[in-house]
Amino acid sequence: MPTSSASPLTPSSPSGLAAVEHDIARACADARRDRASVTLIAVSKTFAADAIAPVIAAGQRVFGENRVQEAKAKWPELMAAHPDIALHLIGPLQSNKTKEAVALFDAIHSVDRPSLCEALSKEFARQPRRPELFVQINTGEEPQKAGIAPTDADDFLARCRDTYGLSIAGLMCIPPADEAPAPHFALTARIAARNGLQKLSMGMSADFAVAIAFGATHVRVGSAIFGTRPKPA
Ligand SMILES: *Cc1c(COP(=O)(O)O)cnc(C)c1O
Repeated sequence: MPTSSASPLTPSSPSGLAAVEHDIARACADARRDRASVTLIAVSKTFAADAIAPVIAAGQRVFGENRVQEAKAKWPELMAAHPDIALHLIGPLQSNKTKEAVALFDAIHSVDRPSLCEALSKEFARQPRRPELFVQINTGEEPQKAGIAPTDADDFLARCRDTYGLSIAGLMCIPPADEAPAPHFALTARIAARNGLQKLSMGMSADFAVAIAFGATHVRVGSAIFGTRPKPA
């Protein structure tokens, strides 16, 4: 078995984070992947700064939020104290919040429509920041869920590049809640491979080990680290 790199965490890590780190290391070993090839995004949506502080203290440096306003209220102070933190937007982005999102986030996982591409492209002409971009694929073709239909993905990715001049780093998916996630992860990985994209944002608390087996480079894990959210978000 290949060895995985040691956990970066301190011995006093919050138990949820330590358990997730342990499971990521095991999934990487099972998949013959280097632990360093998977970025853990700790999804802190709905949790206040006092719940986030111990996770930062344990060494975690990449966090995910799904709302621009909530992130703006919570993160600037935490990031001032820890300038090496990276913040990822994992939820839908309204075009009128593009400026704030580009200023605050290091990655945006929810590029899902031409109007947002246009807004991002305009914003990139105004500010030098370049968050890493992921196109969200609606692998289950669920009407209530954001994302590009799998059959439209190749055209949309070409349009991102050719029409809007955007550099897309990878793909993101959220499998339907009531289906086995593996086929959705496999489909997302196939679309990425044929479009030459290296990064795959897939896997949440319930299925990140499966996602790692299918090549996830970014897993978005909330409740397994922070506990059950007070209400759905
Ligand atoms: C909330 C959320 C997560 C984390 O979900 P958990 O099941 O709590 O791990 C991951 N991805 C997205 C897009 C989310 O909104």
